[in-house]
Amino acid sequence: MKNIHYLFSLLLILSACNQPKKASKELSEVSVNEFAIIIHGGAGTILKKNMTPEKEAVYKAKLEEAIRVGYEILEEGGSSGDAVVKTIQVMEESPLFNAGKGAVFTHEGTNELDASFMDGKTLNAGAVAGVKDIKSPIEAARRVMTNSDHVMLSGAGASQFAKEQGLEIVDPSYFYTEKRFNSLQKIKDKEKTELDHDDKKAAFYDVDIKNSKFGTVGCVALDKDGNISAGTSTGGMTNKRWGRIGDSPIIGSGTYANNNTCGVSSTGWGEYFIRAQVAHDISAQMEYLHKSLKEATKDVIQNKLTKLGGTGGVIALDKKGNMSFEFNTTGMYRASMNDKGDLIVKIYAD
Ligand code: ASP
Repeated sequence: MKNIHYLFSLLLILSACNQPKKASKELSEVSVNEFAIIIHGGAGTILKKNMTPEKEAVYKAKLEEAIRVGYEILEEGGSSGDAVVKTIQVMEESPLFNAGKGAVFTHEGTNELDASFMDGKTLNAGAVAGVKDIKSPIEAARRVMTNSDHVMLSGAGASQFAKEQGLEIVDPSYFYTEKRFNSLQKIKDKEKTELDHDDKKAAFYDVDIKNSKFGTVGCVALDKDGNISAGTSTGGMTNKRWGRIGDSPIIGSGTYANNNTCGVSSTGWGEYFIRAQVAHDISAQMEYLHKSLKEATKDVIQNKLTKLGGTGGVIALDKKGNMSFEFNTTGMYRASMNDKGDLIVKIYAD
Protein backbone atom coordinates (compact mmCIF):
# COMPACT_ATOMS: atom_id res chain seq x y z
CA MET A 1 0.00 0.00 0.00
CA LYS A 2 2.83 2.35 0.98
CA ASN A 3 4.48 1.54 -2.35
CA ILE A 4 1.32 2.41 -4.30
CA HIS A 5 1.14 5.77 -2.51
CA TYR A 6 4.76 6.39 -3.31
CA LEU A 7 4.24 5.53 -6.97
CA PHE A 8 1.17 7.77 -7.18
CA SER A 9 3.05 10.77 -5.68
CA LEU A 10 5.89 10.22 -8.10
CA LEU A 11 3.47 10.21 -11.03
CA LEU A 12 1.91 13.46 -9.79
CA ILE A 13 5.30 15.14 -9.53
CA LEU A 14 6.30 13.92 -12.99
CA SER A 15 3.09 15.15 -14.61
CA ALA A 16 3.45 18.55 -12.89
CA CYS A 17 6.94 18.85 -14.35
CA ASN A 18 5.50 18.18 -17.77
CA GLN A 19 2.93 21.00 -17.64
CA PRO A 20 3.43 22.74 -20.99
CA LYS A 21 1.36 25.80 -19.95
CA LYS A 22 3.63 26.76 -17.13
CA ALA A 23 6.72 26.33 -19.23
CA SER A 24 5.38 28.54 -22.03
CA LYS A 25 4.29 31.22 -19.56
CA GLU A 26 7.81 31.39 -18.17
CA LEU A 27 9.20 31.56 -21.68
CA SER A 28 6.85 34.34 -22.74
CA GLU A 29 7.96 36.46 -19.82
CA VAL A 30 11.49 36.61 -21.14
CA SER A 31 12.24 39.77 -23.12
CA VAL A 32 12.87 39.27 -26.81
CA ASN A 33 14.58 42.64 -27.12
CA GLU A 34 15.83 44.97 -24.41
CA PHE A 35 15.03 47.84 -26.75
CA ALA A 36 13.56 48.05 -30.24
CA ILE A 37 12.11 50.40 -32.83
CA ILE A 38 9.63 50.04 -35.69
CA ILE A 39 8.44 52.56 -38.29
CA HIS A 40 6.07 52.96 -41.23
CA GLY A 41 5.88 55.42 -44.09
CA GLY A 42 2.32 54.60 -45.17
CA ALA A 43 0.45 51.63 -46.62
CA GLY A 44 -1.55 51.26 -49.83
CA THR A 45 -1.54 49.82 -53.30
CA ILE A 46 2.20 49.67 -53.68
CA LEU A 47 3.13 47.22 -56.43
CA LYS A 48 6.57 46.25 -57.59
CA LYS A 49 5.50 46.57 -61.23
CA ASN A 50 4.72 50.27 -60.65
CA MET A 51 8.06 51.01 -58.99
CA THR A 52 11.50 51.45 -60.46
CA PRO A 53 14.54 50.00 -58.66
CA GLU A 54 15.79 53.58 -58.21
CA LYS A 55 12.56 54.74 -56.54
CA GLU A 56 12.56 51.66 -54.34
CA ALA A 57 16.14 52.37 -53.27
CA VAL A 58 15.32 56.00 -52.44
CA TYR A 59 12.42 54.99 -50.17
CA LYS A 60 14.45 52.26 -48.48
CA ALA A 61 17.39 54.59 -47.87
CA LYS A 62 15.15 57.20 -46.24
CA LEU A 63 13.45 54.59 -44.05
CA GLU A 64 16.86 53.33 -42.97
CA GLU A 65 18.13 56.85 -42.29
CA ALA A 66 15.08 57.59 -40.15
CA ILE A 67 15.12 54.40 -38.10
CA ARG A 68 18.85 54.62 -37.42
CA VAL A 69 18.31 58.03 -35.79
CA GLY A 70 15.90 56.51 -33.26
CA TYR A 71 17.98 53.36 -32.87
CA GLU A 72 21.06 55.34 -31.82
CA ILE A 73 19.06 57.23 -29.21
CA LEU A 74 17.78 53.96 -27.76
CA GLU A 75 21.18 52.25 -27.91
CA GLU A 76 22.71 55.09 -25.92
CA GLY A 77 20.03 54.72 -23.27
CA GLY A 78 17.83 57.60 -24.44
CA SER A 79 14.05 57.63 -24.06
CA SER A 80 11.59 56.02 -26.44
CA GLY A 81 9.83 59.42 -26.64
CA ASP A 82 12.93 61.12 -28.04
CA ALA A 83 13.51 58.21 -30.42
CA VAL A 84 9.96 58.43 -31.77
CA VAL A 85 10.00 62.21 -32.30
CA LYS A 86 13.46 62.39 -33.87
CA THR A 87 12.76 59.44 -36.17
CA ILE A 88 9.45 60.87 -37.34
CA GLN A 89 11.06 64.26 -37.95
CA VAL A 90 13.38 62.71 -40.56
CA MET A 91 10.30 61.51 -42.42
CA GLU A 92 8.38 64.77 -41.90
CA GLU A 93 11.25 66.60 -43.56
CA SER A 94 11.33 64.24 -46.53
CA PRO A 95 9.01 64.97 -49.49
CA LEU A 96 8.66 61.21 -50.02
CA PHE A 97 6.03 60.86 -47.32
CA ASN A 98 2.65 62.38 -46.66
CA ALA A 99 3.71 64.21 -43.49
CA GLY A 100 5.30 67.62 -43.00
CA LYS A 101 6.99 68.55 -46.29
CA GLY A 102 5.27 66.44 -48.93
CA ALA A 103 1.89 66.43 -47.21
CA VAL A 104 -1.14 65.94 -49.45
CA PHE A 105 -3.40 68.84 -50.41
CA THR A 106 -6.89 69.66 -49.23
CA HIS A 107 -9.70 70.47 -51.66
CA GLU A 108 -8.88 74.15 -51.21
CA GLY A 109 -5.22 73.59 -52.14
CA THR A 110 -3.79 73.95 -48.64
CA ASN A 111 -1.88 71.50 -46.43
CA GLU A 112 -3.48 70.65 -43.08
CA LEU A 113 -1.44 68.44 -40.84
CA ASP A 114 -2.38 66.08 -38.01
CA ALA A 115 -0.15 64.29 -35.49
CA SER A 116 -0.30 62.51 -32.16
CA PHE A 117 2.05 61.12 -29.55
CA MET A 118 1.52 58.81 -26.58
CA ASP A 119 3.66 57.83 -23.61
CA GLY A 120 3.07 54.24 -22.52
CA LYS A 121 4.39 54.73 -18.98
CA THR A 122 1.96 57.46 -17.90
CA LEU A 123 -0.73 57.03 -20.57
CA ASN A 124 -0.28 60.73 -21.23
CA ALA A 125 -0.90 61.86 -24.78
CA GLY A 126 -0.86 64.90 -27.02
CA ALA A 127 -2.14 65.73 -30.49
CA VAL A 128 -2.53 68.53 -33.02
CA ALA A 129 -5.07 68.59 -35.83
CA GLY A 130 -5.54 70.72 -38.92
CA VAL A 131 -2.37 72.76 -38.44
CA LYS A 132 -0.98 74.75 -41.37
CA ASP A 133 2.32 76.27 -40.31
CA ILE A 134 4.02 74.10 -37.68
CA LYS A 135 7.15 72.60 -39.22
CA SER A 136 7.11 69.50 -37.03
CA PRO A 137 3.58 68.47 -36.05
CA ILE A 138 4.93 65.45 -34.10
CA GLU A 139 7.01 67.72 -31.89
CA ALA A 140 3.99 69.96 -31.33
CA ALA A 141 1.91 66.91 -30.39
CA ARG A 142 4.46 65.85 -27.78
CA ARG A 143 4.56 69.42 -26.42
CA VAL A 144 0.77 69.41 -26.05
CA MET A 145 1.29 66.38 -23.83
CA THR A 146 4.17 67.72 -21.78
CA ASN A 147 3.41 71.47 -21.64
CA SER A 148 -0.37 71.86 -21.69
CA ASP A 149 -3.34 70.59 -19.73
CA HIS A 150 -4.92 69.25 -22.88
CA VAL A 151 -4.68 66.27 -25.16
CA MET A 152 -5.67 67.75 -28.53
CA LEU A 153 -5.30 71.24 -29.97
CA SER A 154 -6.48 72.25 -33.42
CA GLY A 155 -5.98 74.86 -36.14
CA ALA A 156 -4.97 78.41 -35.25
CA GLY A 157 -5.01 77.67 -31.51
CA ALA A 158 -2.51 74.85 -31.96
CA SER A 159 -0.25 77.17 -33.99
CA GLN A 160 -0.48 79.82 -31.28
CA PHE A 161 0.53 77.22 -28.70
CA ALA A 162 3.45 76.06 -30.88
CA LYS A 163 4.65 79.66 -31.25
CA GLU A 164 4.51 80.19 -27.50
CA GLN A 165 6.52 77.01 -27.07
CA GLY A 166 9.20 78.35 -29.38
CA LEU A 167 8.63 75.64 -32.00
CA GLU A 168 9.54 76.38 -35.59
CA ILE A 169 6.75 78.03 -37.58
CA VAL A 170 7.06 78.01 -41.38
CA ASP A 171 5.31 79.66 -44.27
CA PRO A 172 2.64 77.20 -45.53
CA SER A 173 4.46 77.06 -48.88
CA TYR A 174 7.16 75.01 -47.09
CA PHE A 175 4.88 71.97 -47.32
CA TYR A 176 4.30 72.29 -51.08
CA THR A 177 5.50 69.60 -53.47
CA GLU A 178 4.58 69.46 -57.13
CA LYS A 179 3.80 65.76 -57.00
CA ARG A 180 1.14 66.17 -54.29
CA PHE A 181 -0.30 69.25 -55.95
CA ASN A 182 -0.68 67.34 -59.22
CA SER A 183 -2.46 64.51 -57.39
CA LEU A 184 -5.04 67.00 -56.17
CA GLN A 185 -5.60 68.33 -59.70
CA LYS A 186 -6.05 64.79 -61.03
CA ILE A 187 -8.68 63.99 -58.42
CA LYS A 188 -10.48 67.26 -59.01
CA ASP A 189 -10.57 66.54 -62.75
CA LYS A 190 -12.03 63.14 -62.00
CA GLU A 191 -14.68 64.69 -59.79
CA LYS A 192 -15.88 66.80 -62.69
CA THR A 193 -16.54 63.78 -64.87
CA GLU A 194 -19.60 61.58 -64.65
CA LEU A 195 -18.74 59.18 -61.85
CA ASP A 196 -21.06 56.93 -59.97
CA HIS A 197 -21.41 57.36 -56.24
CA ASP A 198 -18.69 54.90 -55.19
CA ASP A 199 -16.16 56.26 -57.65
CA LYS A 200 -16.89 59.78 -56.46
CA LYS A 201 -16.38 58.70 -52.90
CA ALA A 202 -13.13 57.04 -53.92
CA ALA A 203 -11.94 60.09 -55.84
CA PHE A 204 -12.73 62.26 -52.87
CA TYR A 205 -10.34 60.30 -50.74
CA ASP A 206 -7.75 59.49 -53.41
CA VAL A 207 -8.65 55.88 -52.88
CA ASP A 208 -9.51 54.79 -56.36
CA ILE A 209 -8.80 51.28 -55.12
CA LYS A 210 -6.47 50.57 -58.04
CA ASN A 211 -3.93 53.09 -56.87
CA SER A 212 -4.55 54.16 -53.32
CA LYS A 213 -1.56 55.20 -51.25
CA PHE A 214 -1.40 56.48 -47.72
CA GLY A 215 1.94 58.09 -46.96
CA THR A 216 1.45 58.82 -43.28
CA VAL A 217 4.49 58.16 -41.08
CA GLY A 218 4.66 56.53 -37.67
CA CYS A 219 7.08 55.13 -35.13
CA VAL A 220 6.89 52.97 -32.00
CA ALA A 221 9.87 52.44 -29.70
CA LEU A 222 10.77 50.54 -26.53
CA ASP A 223 13.67 51.91 -24.50
CA LYS A 224 16.08 50.26 -22.06
CA ASP A 225 13.90 51.40 -19.13
CA GLY A 226 10.99 49.40 -20.53
CA ASN A 227 9.02 52.44 -21.67
CA ILE A 228 7.03 52.37 -24.89
CA SER A 229 6.17 55.50 -26.92
CA ALA A 230 4.24 55.82 -30.15
CA GLY A 231 3.69 58.64 -32.62
CA THR A 232 2.02 59.31 -35.96
CA SER A 233 2.20 62.30 -38.34
CA THR A 234 0.27 62.96 -41.55
CA GLY A 235 -1.13 65.36 -44.11
CA GLY A 236 -4.35 63.31 -44.08
CA MET A 237 -6.03 62.38 -47.35
CA THR A 238 -5.88 64.20 -50.68
CA ASN A 239 -8.86 66.42 -51.46
CA LYS A 240 -10.13 66.37 -47.87
CA ARG A 241 -12.43 69.28 -47.08
CA TRP A 242 -14.56 70.92 -44.43
CA GLY A 243 -11.74 70.63 -41.90
CA ARG A 244 -11.75 66.84 -42.14
CA ILE A 245 -9.63 65.17 -39.46
CA GLY A 246 -8.54 61.55 -39.84
CA ASP A 247 -7.41 58.92 -37.37
CA SER A 248 -3.78 59.99 -37.07
CA PRO A 249 -4.28 62.58 -34.30
CA ILE A 250 -6.89 60.45 -32.51
CA ILE A 251 -5.51 58.61 -29.52
CA GLY A 252 -6.79 55.04 -29.68
CA SER A 253 -7.22 55.11 -33.47
CA GLY A 254 -4.01 56.39 -35.06
CA THR A 255 -1.74 56.07 -32.05
CA TYR A 256 -1.72 54.21 -28.74
CA ALA A 257 0.92 53.20 -26.18
CA ASN A 258 0.70 51.35 -22.89
CA ASN A 259 3.72 49.87 -21.12
CA ASN A 260 1.57 46.95 -19.95
CA THR A 261 0.67 45.89 -23.46
CA CYS A 262 2.07 47.55 -26.58
CA GLY A 263 2.48 50.64 -28.75
CA VAL A 264 0.76 51.07 -32.11
CA SER A 265 0.83 53.53 -35.03
CA SER A 266 -1.70 53.25 -37.87
CA THR A 267 -1.87 54.24 -41.52
CA GLY A 268 -4.79 53.87 -43.87
CA TRP A 269 -8.25 55.16 -44.63
CA GLY A 270 -8.73 57.15 -41.45
CA GLU A 271 -12.51 57.05 -41.21
CA TYR A 272 -12.39 53.26 -40.81
CA PHE A 273 -9.54 53.39 -38.31
CA ILE A 274 -11.55 55.78 -36.16
CA ARG A 275 -14.64 53.58 -36.28
CA ALA A 276 -12.64 50.44 -35.47
CA GLN A 277 -10.55 52.16 -32.77
CA VAL A 278 -7.70 50.20 -34.27
CA ALA A 279 -4.74 51.13 -32.05
CA HIS A 280 -6.56 50.78 -28.74
CA ASP A 281 -8.33 47.61 -29.78
CA ILE A 282 -4.97 45.90 -30.33
CA SER A 283 -3.87 46.90 -26.83
CA ALA A 284 -7.24 45.87 -25.33
CA GLN A 285 -7.12 42.44 -26.96
CA MET A 286 -3.71 41.88 -25.38
CA GLU A 287 -4.85 43.15 -22.00
CA TYR A 288 -8.25 41.49 -21.72
CA LEU A 289 -7.95 38.46 -23.98
CA HIS A 290 -4.25 37.86 -23.31
CA LYS A 291 -3.56 37.65 -27.01
CA SER A 292 -0.02 37.92 -28.35
CA LEU A 293 0.93 41.05 -30.30
CA LYS A 294 0.76 39.10 -33.56
CA GLU A 295 -2.67 37.64 -32.79
CA ALA A 296 -4.10 41.01 -31.76
CA THR A 297 -2.76 42.98 -34.75
CA LYS A 298 -3.88 40.25 -37.12
CA ASP A 299 -7.41 40.14 -35.75
CA VAL A 300 -7.88 43.91 -35.81
CA ILE A 301 -6.49 44.47 -39.32
CA GLN A 302 -7.33 41.27 -41.21
CA ASN A 303 -10.62 40.57 -39.52
CA LYS A 304 -12.31 43.58 -37.92
CA LEU A 305 -11.02 46.41 -40.13
CA THR A 306 -11.30 44.37 -43.32
CA LYS A 307 -14.92 43.41 -42.54
CA LEU A 308 -15.78 47.10 -42.18
CA GLY A 309 -14.23 47.77 -45.60
CA GLY A 310 -11.21 49.65 -44.26
CA THR A 311 -7.77 49.48 -45.85
CA GLY A 312 -4.35 50.12 -44.34
CA GLY A 313 -2.09 48.75 -41.67
CA VAL A 314 -0.25 49.15 -38.38
CA ILE A 315 3.16 48.80 -36.86
CA ALA A 316 3.19 47.56 -33.28
CA LEU A 317 5.69 46.64 -30.61
CA ASP A 318 5.02 45.00 -27.23
CA LYS A 319 6.61 45.36 -23.82
CA LYS A 320 8.94 42.43 -24.46
CA GLY A 321 10.21 43.90 -27.68
CA ASN A 322 8.22 41.71 -30.08
CA MET A 323 7.37 43.63 -33.24
CA SER A 324 4.61 43.29 -35.79
CA PHE A 325 3.80 44.73 -39.21
CA GLU A 326 0.21 44.02 -40.22
CA PHE A 327 -1.61 45.41 -43.27
CA ASN A 328 -4.36 44.43 -45.70
CA THR A 329 -2.97 46.41 -48.64
CA THR A 330 -0.39 45.25 -51.18
CA GLY A 331 2.37 47.16 -49.46
CA MET A 332 3.48 49.27 -46.56
CA TYR A 333 6.74 51.23 -46.37
CA ARG A 334 8.24 49.87 -43.18
CA ALA A 335 11.36 49.11 -41.15
CA SER A 336 12.37 47.69 -37.79
CA MET A 337 15.53 47.29 -35.73
CA ASN A 338 16.07 45.04 -32.72
CA ASP A 339 18.56 45.44 -29.88
CA LYS A 340 21.20 43.52 -31.85
CA GLY A 341 21.00 46.12 -34.59
CA ASP A 342 19.36 43.76 -37.11
CA LEU A 343 17.60 45.93 -39.67
CA ILE A 344 14.55 44.99 -41.72
CA VAL A 345 13.40 47.38 -44.47
CA LYS A 346 10.49 46.33 -46.68
CA ILE A 347 7.90 47.75 -49.03
CA TYR A 348 5.71 44.98 -50.46
CA ALA A 349 3.74 42.20 -48.84
CA ASP A 350 5.78 39.09 -49.45
N1 ASP B 1 -4.72 57.69 -41.89
C1 ASP B 1 -4.51 58.93 -42.56
C2 ASP B 1 -5.79 59.71 -42.57
O1 ASP B 1 -6.83 59.14 -42.77
C3 ASP B 1 -4.02 58.76 -43.95
C4 ASP B 1 -2.78 57.92 -44.09
O2 ASP B 1 -2.57 56.96 -43.34
O3 ASP B 1 -1.98 58.21 -44.99
O4 ASP B 1 -5.75 60.91 -42.46
